[in-house]
Amino acid sequence: MAEKTRSTKAVGSASRRPKAGAAARFTRLSIIAPIFNEIENLPELYRRVTAVMTSMRVDWELLLVDDGSTDGSTEAIRSLARTDAHVWPIIFARNFGHQIAVTAGLDYCRGQAAVIIDADLQDPPELIPDLVAKWREGYEVVYAVRAEREGETWFKRVTASAFYRIIYRITDVKIPLDVGDFRLLDRQVIDTLKCMRERHRFLRGMAAWVGFRQTGVEYKRVARKAGVTKYPFRKMLRLALNAVTGFSYFPLQLATYLGFISAGLSVLAIPVVIITRLIGHQAFFGQASTLIAVLFLGGVQLISLGILGEYIGRLYDEAKGRPLYVARETPSEDGAPAGKRLQP
Ligand code: UDP
Ligand code: MG
Repeated sequence: MAEKTRSTKAVGSASRRPKAGAAARFTRLSIIAPIFNEIENLPELYRRVTAVMTSMRVDWELLLVDDGSTDGSTEAIRSLARTDAHVWPIIFARNFGHQIAVTAGLDYCRGQAAVIIDADLQDPPELIPDLVAKWREGYEVVYAVRAEREGETWFKRVTASAFYRIIYRITDVKIPLDVGDFRLLDRQVIDTLKCMRERHRFLRGMAAWVGFRQTGVEYKRVARKAGVTKYPFRKMLRLALNAVTGFSYFPLQLATYLGFISAGLSVLAIPVVIITRLIGHQAFFGQASTLIAVLFLGGVQLISLGILGEYIGRLYDEAKGRPLYVARETPSEDGAPAGKRLQP
């Protein structure tokens, strides 16, 4: 395993941006794939990435981040790493989630640029040369835009589409529409992202927040090659909440708006009640109207408290300052074989 020692030389010059046609300076491209129970997709992913990268004739590395798989993916990753020096395993101690797995890949990658790709082959590795071509034109972030999606339920499509549009409206950074994590990031962007250690991560938002020159390349998102989605509704909702709370105060301000609206309505109601009383009618009949008003306002208050809770919980998580992930095995930087140590 000694030849698997990482060269730190490549990193030293890594933070410079390539100029058009600067292929010679392009010494390494990193491919990062988060893996959570993808045993059926791994061989095909490896085969297709290898084919594409070989045809590109650049030095490359494939970081396979095992996010607590239980289906034997871990062993499969290890055995790939044993036979091919391009493959670097990062093995988590448990499932930490897709966004954290990608973060670990960014932490350990050594290329002048890195491509983040799903392991289920919904993101075609064959698009990598197109992403790299844009990067060579001088763009620091090249994201892949989902022009078409197939093989996904209408529920997923509708919620995903609504999600991108709501996020676009209410957040302060302009996160491009219909764009997932399949993208190429320049070393400068990677280094900036590495400094952003927030716990509840939404990498697309973070990559947009960073700035730099960004562009998109369209592609057709095909169905998952094998297996089932590892993003059940619960995880999708959590990601959406991370996106909203991470990039917007709008939900917090919502309580203020609702407060003003209900206070305004009650002020308007005062003369109405007085006038109806003066002309001899009863303003309200029965308890139902009172009950409805009490329940409505009680509901609004509880929802506002819940929203506050979301932000406070996130604050609490940040305050604890735990590591983002715990890795059982990471690529070693000091020449020792892949060691058993905690993440940086
Ligand atoms: N993934 C992961 N950890 C998780 C969930 C997903 O590493 O907790 C990986 C998964 O193996 C895949 C990628 O993230 O490579 C995208 O997941 P998936 O395809 O299930 O999401 P979808 O495409 O359905 O949104
Ligand atoms: Mg998928």
